[in-house]
Amino acid sequence: MFSERLSQLLDDILAGRAPNAGRFCGNCYHPLAPGRTACPHCGLTVSGRPPVEALPRALIEMHKVRRSRERLVVWAVAWGGLGIGVCVALIPIAFAGIELWSILAFFGLLGFFYLASANAANSLGDAWGYRWGQSIVRKRWRRLLSERDRED
Ligand SMILES: [Zn+2]
Repeated sequence: MFSERLSQLLDDILAGRAPNAGRFCGNCYHPLAPGRTACPHCGLTVSGRPPVEALPRALIEMHKVRRSRERLVVWAVAWGGLGIGVCVALIPIAFAGIELWSILAFFGLLGFFYLASANAANSLGDAWGYRWGQSIVRKRWRRLLSERDRED
């Protein structure tokens, strides 16, 4: 699987902060310093597989889908949690009507769920999003390698 540094570079390319150009391992696409003859990430030598000067489109596209999956899960957990919070916060008002205590309970519960869902988005949402993002990476990485090796 590809390296953390490549992952950061892909973020920069997607954000337009870096060009898709350089010297990359022909096997795992880890960025290679000029003159390096072996990949520090996968260990393959440049004679084993020549370095490439640009990352494949499919790799950039794969990273984009990964990041959007991660964002979507964090967003869904945050807003899902808040949605549940609004429903729960309305229960006292639904049963007791508009009273001072039910209004206070409404805002108290809302505040609690607001914090809880922000927390859940950061922990659970992050972890679930990461896993869902990795599943597409695994699948597309395999496809990328098999298509590349068929061309060789
Ligand atoms: Zn490599």
